[in-house]
Amino acid sequence: MIWNEILKTEENRKKYADFVSRADKDIHSFLEFDAEKIAPPENTEGCLAGLPFGVKDNIAVKDFKLTCASKILENFVSPYNATAIEKLEKAGCVPVGKTNMDEFGMGSSTDCSAFGGTNNPWNKECVTGGSSGGSAAAVAAGLVPFALGSDTGGSVRQPAAFCGVYGLKPTYGSVSRFGLVAYASSLDVIGVVSRDLDLAEKVFEVIRGEDEKDQTSIPYPEKKAEPVNGKLSFTYLEGDLGLTPEIEKGYRACIQAIRDRGFEIKGVQIPSLEYVIPVYYTIATAEASANLARFNGVRYGYRSKNGETPLELMQKSRNEGFGDEVKLRILLGTYVLRSGFQDQYYGKAQKIRTKIINEFKDIFSYSDIFVVPAFPSQAFRHGNAGLTQYQQKVADKFTVTANLTGLPALSLPVGVDNGLPVGVQFFADYCSENLLFDAARQLADVFPVATPPGFVPAEKIIG
Ligand code: GLN
Repeated sequence: MIWNEILKTEENRKKYADFVSRADKDIHSFLEFDAEKIAPPENTEGCLAGLPFGVKDNIAVKDFKLTCASKILENFVSPYNATAIEKLEKAGCVPVGKTNMDEFGMGSSTDCSAFGGTNNPWNKECVTGGSSGGSAAAVAAGLVPFALGSDTGGSVRQPAAFCGVYGLKPTYGSVSRFGLVAYASSLDVIGVVSRDLDLAEKVFEVIRGEDEKDQTSIPYPEKKAEPVNGKLSFTYLEGDLGLTPEIEKGYRACIQAIRDRGFEIKGVQIPSLEYVIPVYYTIATAEASANLARFNGVRYGYRSKNGETPLELMQKSRNEGFGDEVKLRILLGTYVLRSGFQDQYYGKAQKIRTKIINEFKDIFSYSDIFVVPAFPSQAFRHGNAGLTQYQQKVADKFTVTANLTGLPALSLPVGVDNGLPVGVQFFADYCSENLLFDAARQLADVFPVATPPGFVPAEKIIG
């Protein structure tokens, strides 16, 4: 792999940094990319040694900024590494920069970044998806071989689908959340974006595992998951799914390709699918309103110069520091949690969450891979020509189920239509990521990863 040559000498590091700055000018996938901070790898042995990678700006990398794409953390520099970063550095990978995102992970476009959106490498007038849009765009454009993102309701899988690359949302708890800035703690997980399926799997194998710094982390089973019937078997979501013609076509082509390969695949329905959006947005905003209470202008982050009293200082710092979408979610979360009303919203949402979990468990009792669209449309346009914030939320219905259930899911490219990628996602049972990768490998030659216009292969960067 040529990528491991790129950071070897000072001359190559400089060429690489120049290439990224040039190529990223009209994409804006990185919020921070500083040639001075690119160090030679800690470890030069092993298959991941020497690989540069991008990190979503809500994951802590020592001495890099950690802004969550929010004005409230604009000048905050992380004094420590997230556990996932620590593990990757030990394996010889080198974090080279921080990638753009929707503020605090709240959004599906990356246009909700306080520092300006990211352009899709396939068509600069379109969004990258979100919230890990910077990570997906950097990978799709060939600026890094892989990047870390976070997925609370689809934020790794949906931008991966919009940019035509692979995106893994691991089993909840399989990757430590230590060093990941919390959005909704019962849903958040760190994930991987890559153009290379084997590399994505290797990165996952490095970052997973129990961590004493995260009480919700779980020991990952040593033994690989096996197909329930000895050979991979598939199910797909049927019914009127409200897909655009391009996505419908890609989804059907994927199901057909699975059949053509000789696998069994049958249609199933998820009766509670119509409730997943209200349930997700009740739980996610409730948890977000509690998690974001720490940004108060006192201990760190943005502090308003206009506060006369401590209360005013806090109110003004939050009012001036947070963007509109974040404020909306804090208000919504505070509303659903307000005293005396928990049973009306939050309690009900938790009950339906249990029902959704049971419906999914049932599917994995007889089949290994559940095929679901990643998003109802391809990448949409920036601004008013695209989807409204409300339409974006409703369209999260296919991704949020993986977070509500904690199940692993992988989004994969299934072709390009009208100049934009089409993606679908595979779900599997808990800690069965290996089956997701095996299933995706079955289709890798039918649906190879395509390259966006102007793509520069790694060997040309320093060549
Ligand atoms: N679009 C979803 C939201 O806005 C998902 C975000 C995420 O996974 N971080 O909440």
